Amino acid sequence: MDFELTDEQKMMKDMARDFAEEKIRPTMEEDEKAHRFRPEIVKQMAELGMFGCIAPEEYGGNETGFLAATIMTIEIARVSPSWGLPFNLQMMGPQTILLNWGTEEQKKKYLPGLINGDLFGCFAITEANTGSDVASMKTYAEDKGDYYLLNGSKMWISGIPYADCGVVFAVTNKEAKPKHRGISCFFLDLKAPGIKQIAIETKLGLACAPTGEIVFEDVEVPKDALVGEPDKGFRMCMTMLDNTRLSSAARAVGVSQACLEYAVQYAKERTQFGQPIMNFQMIQDQIAQMAVEHDAAELLVYRSAYLKDKGVRNTRETSMAKYYAAEAAVHAADLAVKIYGSYGFSSEYPVERYYRDSKSYQIVEGTSNIQKIIIAGYALGTRK
Ligand SMILES: Cc1cc2nc3c(=O)[nH]c(=O)nc-3n(C[C@H](O)[C@H](O)[C@H](O)COP(=O)(O)OP(=O)(O)OC[C@H]3O[C@@H](n4cnc5c(N)ncnc54)[C@H](O)[C@@H]3O)c2cc1C
Repeated sequence: MDFELTDEQKMMKDMARDFAEEKIRPTMEEDEKAHRFRPEIVKQMAELGMFGCIAPEEYGGNETGFLAATIMTIEIARVSPSWGLPFNLQMMGPQTILLNWGTEEQKKKYLPGLINGDLFGCFAITEANTGSDVASMKTYAEDKGDYYLLNGSKMWISGIPYADCGVVFAVTNKEAKPKHRGISCFFLDLKAPGIKQIAIETKLGLACAPTGEIVFEDVEVPKDALVGEPDKGFRMCMTMLDNTRLSSAARAVGVSQACLEYAVQYAKERTQFGQPIMNFQMIQDQIAQMAVEHDAAELLVYRSAYLKDKGVRNTRETSMAKYYAAEAAVHAADLAVKIYGSYGFSSEYPVERYYRDSKSYQIVEGTSNIQKIIIAGYALGTRK
């Protein structure tokens, strides 16, 4: 077992850390308060090759792999969880679909733009009444012979209202039993007539990461926008989630890393009862919990990425990484707020932001409960 990163991975880690410190941190607090999304950041990340890790060179990729992507995601999220999102929107979501099931035309049309940042991507599964129960979706793509007529809406979609294109799952067979056998996958131009993108302005956190609703009203979708075979979209969706889950787990590790760093710094600086609070055993207990849980989460995340790079099945390991990293991030942020005392309750100090942002990891890409259902299924042998 080798715990060393390769020279290339170390170089990518340093590059991502420097980028986050130099390009994101200086305006971060201001951007957070203004809820400002800066498209040029996505473009600059793209120029550094951050979204090319899983695609071959012929489409503009660099094939440095899932572990390289994971390491960079952790570094960016350590400074700003909001800016960890583009790894999923440009790469893990849409590229998984195109690389595994896209036609040559679809790959050529979208992959280079997603990788070099000319196109902003997204993936849309969730609807107002469809969250964990993906197969219950209602957005309907009716086969009209020459085209599909798409009606419905998607909620809570990251990247909206800025997406140029993306993966959209829709029902194509309403009679299918079970329901998941009637879902298809489409890769759509999201600026096409009949499509509206509406921002959601009421989020708890991730203020610099846009999230929104997509409304489809009598959209004529060309037949060549279908990915793979009709009614086979559910499996594609689950495979995609296996990859986007890794990325959200990596963002969670970035959060636990940041919270640990801030807590250690504050525990050394803050004095009470005539001494730094780091001398108190209860503070040390909190720091120890954060350190152990952070390392455990990071190792689970690395394992999932390593298995993906080896091409080994990893649904169980990825769900474990996603579940544990999300819970560890929320716990780390909670402990950091406690260690900061009243300053932890203030938006003038960073840990309050991590506390709000961390909650997203227990929800996105399948809630913590859904991950536990998957993990328990493998443990009990009801899932293979
Ligand atoms: C910031 C943010 C970004 C997002 N980005 C995207 C995106 O880019 N694309 C996209 O498609 N979606 C996105 N989502 C949506 C997200 O994936 C869903 O919110 C998530 O899948 C949960 O669905 P829900 O919110 O409808 O909760 P529900 O499914 O309604 O669940 C409500 C509660 O019930 C629990 N629950 C549900 N079923 C079970 C069960 N069988 N057993 C035990 N407990 C259960 C859940 O764990 C949860 O606690 C995003 C959400 C957020 C907050």
